[in-house]
Amino acid sequence: MIEISNPAKLAALKANAQTILGKLIAFPILGGESNSSIVDWIENYLNAHGVTFYNVPNEDGNKRSIHCRIGPAVDGGVVLSGHTDVVPVAGQDWHSDPFDMIEKEGKLYGRGTCDMKGFIACCLACLPEMIAANLKKPIYFAFSYDEEIGCWAGHALAKSIMNSYPEKPRFAIIGEPSEMEVITGQKGMGTLETTITSRGAHSSKIYTEASAVHEGAKIVVWLENRMEELIRSGKSDERFNPPHSTLHVGMFNGGIAHNIVADKCTVIWDLRTIPRDNLAEIVKEFSVYCSERIAIMRKKVPEFNITSKERFPLVVPLDTDTEAPVVKFVQQLTDRKTINAVSFASEAGQFAAEGFEAVICGPGSIEQAHRANEFIEVGQMEKGVAFMQKLIRQLS
Ligand SMILES: [Zn+2]
Repeated sequence: MIEISNPAKLAALKANAQTILGKLIAFPILGGESNSSIVDWIENYLNAHGVTFYNVPNEDGNKRSIHCRIGPAVDGGVVLSGHTDVVPVAGQDWHSDPFDMIEKEGKLYGRGTCDMKGFIACCLACLPEMIAANLKKPIYFAFSYDEEIGCWAGHALAKSIMNSYPEKPRFAIIGEPSEMEVITGQKGMGTLETTITSRGAHSSKIYTEASAVHEGAKIVVWLENRMEELIRSGKSDERFNPPHSTLHVGMFNGGIAHNIVADKCTVIWDLRTIPRDNLAEIVKEFSVYCSERIAIMRKKVPEFNITSKERFPLVVPLDTDTEAPVVKFVQQLTDRKTINAVSFASEAGQFAAEGFEAVICGPGSIEQAHRANEFIEVGQMEKGVAFMQKLIRQLS
């Protein structure tokens, strides 16, 4: 159990966190959309408490991440990281307005309650206490955008934190819903759109022409074979389900008629890799295969081509050593002693890649994320603020 020195204070903090969560839920910002309004709100809140902050904008300037430091400019601080965007609600059977949080039977309903504005609300609710505590090591807030459509901002945010302050923070806690369990592993992820272009011709000429659809089918088979090789290589990682990397074609589109050799085909696929398989390496191997096919098919059709683009930058996996200091540190702050791994992508690997010791740990359950009637249990909010209180005590 977490020791609670002052239950009344904890109850007040939890109530405050719930109020803030209601405000954050009311910003219906989906991944891909401008997050200016919610960041404005957070900035006003920080300003009201006299906290200076940095922005990390996107290229168009319509979205921005935000980070700030509370406490002294000394090495060894702790970053608390969350994303401000949520997944869509369209087509889902919601029983209440997803952007108007309601409390019912010990649960707070609304889009983003567990994934992951609940964590952000816990951070913000405990801000006054962080300021009042005489922190010996600093706490940083780091809130991003467009996480839900491919972790677009995590890398730049992590980098900016490393470069904006004279001191070096050490730990990063990514508050994705884990019911406060420490998560040290996460699969890497990439989604690619591969387009095959050729020229149309009468289907009777298939032997001397180059069908984009036939080539697309070969790509599907290549991806499936590559996955089987990876499985057979024996590099399984039992922390994950499934315990191996996966390559999967989700969309396949090409051709206009049965009697026309297809001049175009699009294959949309994803790969999710265990940390021991190299995500970028597999993408490179795929591109070598495509180059070989281009060389062969151009002998028949000079304009034949295969191009691939990443729908979002590759999301690197997380593979923090279970003996790492960050694991022990975060375990002290929760009442969960188990360590786990998850198959969903998050920004944790991006923070690790920038030199932070990173783990995932946050209130709420991933079981409720992305679904209709998403909720976070009030008890989880309580655990979230208790976690913050304990963090403050550890760093004071
Ligand atoms: Zn999330």
